[in-house]
Formats: sequence, C-alpha cells, structure tokens
Amino acid sequence: MNTKGIDKKYIMETYSRVDIEIERGFGATLVDSSGKEYIDFGSGIAVNTFGAADAEWARAVGEQLAKIQHTSNYYYTKPCSDLAKMLCERTGMSKVFFSNSGAEANECAIKAARKYGTDKNPDKNIIITLKNSFHGRTITTLSATGQEVFHKNFTPFTQGFCYVEANNIEDLTSAMNESVCAIMFEVIQGEGGVLPLTKEFLDKAADLAKEYDALLVIDEVQTGNGRTGKLYAHQHFGITPDIFTTAKGLGGGLPIGATVFSEKLSDILPAGSHGSTFGGNPVACAGAVNILSRIDQKLLDNVCEKSNKIVSALKNIDEVEEITGMGFMLGIKAQKSAKDILHYCQEKGLLVLTAKDKVRLLPPLNISDAELSKGIEILKEAIKNA
Ligand SMILES: *Cc1c(COP(=O)(O)O)cnc(C)c1O
Repeated sequence: MNTKGIDKKYIMETYSRVDIEIERGFGATLVDSSGKEYIDFGSGIAVNTFGAADAEWARAVGEQLAKIQHTSNYYYTKPCSDLAKMLCERTGMSKVFFSNSGAEANECAIKAARKYGTDKNPDKNIIITLKNSFHGRTITTLSATGQEVFHKNFTPFTQGFCYVEANNIEDLTSAMNESVCAIMFEVIQGEGGVLPLTKEFLDKAADLAKEYDALLVIDEVQTGNGRTGKLYAHQHFGITPDIFTTAKGLGGGLPIGATVFSEKLSDILPAGSHGSTFGGNPVACAGAVNILSRIDQKLLDNVCEKSNKIVSALKNIDEVEEITGMGFMLGIKAQKSAKDILHYCQEKGLLVLTAKDKVRLLPPLNISDAELSKGIEILKEAIKNA
C-alpha cells in the first residue's frame, strides 16, 4: 500500500488532506513524492518561518540534538533561558511560560487571567473573546473560539466565555463589567478569514481593560514572529498587552508555544500552578533562538516590500474583490471560489491556503524574489481562470 492508502487506513481522518505527499523541500520550494516541485505560499500554516530545511536553523537544532534532546523542567537549560530573554527584551515583556502549541499557550494565558481575576474577587472570571476568532482545539480554547461550527458535538464546555462582534465598539463596551478578567483576541483573525481589527477597536479594548482592571490578552499564534512585518502584530498598533501568546512560526518547524507576560504579572503563576513536560524543550528552543535572532529590521522591511509586490500584482485584477491582511499574512477574496483557486494553483505548482471564503497566503519570510515572482504569476492566472 502507498503512503496515502496507509494514511487513510490508519490515521483518523480529521484533516481533509490534499492529494500530495510532500517528501522534501528547500527554501520556499517543496517537492512531492513524484518529484513535482511547488512554490510554497503556506509555510505549513505560518510555521516554516525560513522555509523548508533551512541550513542555519537545522544546524542550530542539530547541535543541540547532539548535546541533549530533553531534560525535565527540574533543570535549567541554556536554549530555554536564552529564548525567554530574547522574547522579553524584544517586546518589553517580563516573563515567559513555554509549551508546545498555540492551544497550550492560550490555555496558559486563560489560566493566568482567571488567577488574576479570582485573586481579586471569586466572581471576576469572565473572558471576553471575539466572534469568528480561533484560539485552538482543546475544550477550553474551543470555548474561547467564537465560532459555532467548532462547538458542535463537544459540549459541555468550559464556562465563562462571552463573545462580542469584532470591531464593534458598542458590543464590546456593553459586555464589559467588573466580572471580566480578560479581553482576548487576535489582532488579525487568521482562521476567521484574515480579518484585521481596527485601531479604534484595539484602543478601546485597551482602555476598557484598564478601566475594569481586566487583562489584555493577544493571541499572536499566527500573526507573530515577523509574519505581519513587525516582530509581533500588536506592535503595529502601539498597544501593550498584559499577556501575548505565540507558537506556529516561533520554532521554525518544531513544536513550541510561548505565553509571554508583562511586568505586573511576573509572579502570577507560582511553583506548582502550571507545567508541561515538553515545554521549553532545548531542541525546539535552540531552533527558536536561531529563528528569532534572524527576524531583524532588514528581514521585516523585506517582508513588507515583498508583500507590497504581491498586493500590487493582484489589486488591479478585475476578478479580485478584496485583499486583507498585513505583511506575509494576506487574504484574497476573488470572484472564483477559494477552493477552485487552490486546486488550480496546486495543478500549476503553487501551494496556497484558504481561510473562510478567502485564499490565504503565508509565504516563508525569506522567500526568494524568483520564487515569489513565479508564485505570483501562477496565482494571477488562477484568479482569472480557475
Ligand atoms: C493555529 C492557531 C491556534 C492553535 O494553535 P495549535 O498549535 O494548532 O494549537 C491558536 N490561535 C491562533 C490565532 C491560531 O492561528
């Protein structure tokens, strides 16, 4: 039996897989088991920050692997402490908790927010999230996710979440009260369809959080790590979170999650209150140190420049209705369906993603000009002819 057959037989079919077996890659080019090459505009959903099999990242990972692959969290390791220092110094935050995924990073943020609220008053435990958000697949992060489609069949849920309309200041204001311990959102809703929040809404959320002594929690799992043209997307808007979470692109391809806390929360989770066996794994952290150290201003400027190249190539096409997002997190609404465009692109050697009714682009941050141009040409053709 071939890979596809074995997969179908033995793996729970939770993913509607595309009919491609990826074998290897280099940069923003992936190669399938038949030898066909694809330009990669997906990065494994914003994970492979520097593309496939990046040599510098692989060396950093390999060197750590040859020293020690894992220790328990009873011991100190240098990659883990170096990464935490780097994350704090580059964001003005104070403390980090490491885990292994976006959902896990958000679980930690939710626990910390509940702890913060209930330390003041046992009823201060409500977390406001947004309709159309996405925060993960565990029962609690699904509870936080304001989309009915994900809730079906999995009740009862963790209590205490309240959903308001994104960018609706009135809705947010009327949901606020003394029992709210946190407002949690993505600055650009990723899975929800690459929908950016407005500066007005973000400012209002920050003001309301302050007024009601609630925490501002920003989910940067997808938007983080250079994806939008800043190291973290909230930095575009001049807002300061009390907690932000990240995962996906931080490890450059290895599983890692981080929950990052501001000064006022630096002792919110005392010894014994939280943990994760693999959290802060030295191999994942060594890779992340390499990734983060290479996301400098020059790279971020480059992301913005290349993003503009995509937008200018597409914006005047008659069949394009809307382009949303920032940097290398772009959503394109076209007349043709996103699924049809995806399939057309795949046929022609370009891998894209979808989010709701949009084609979603999340290319590796260091994609070459040649790969980018080739991808754009295929995408333009798909938008017109799919
Ligand atoms: C992907 C994603 C998550 C979940 O991350 P996992 O690593 O799949 O658990 C949470 N929040 C946002 C915004 C995401 O894009």
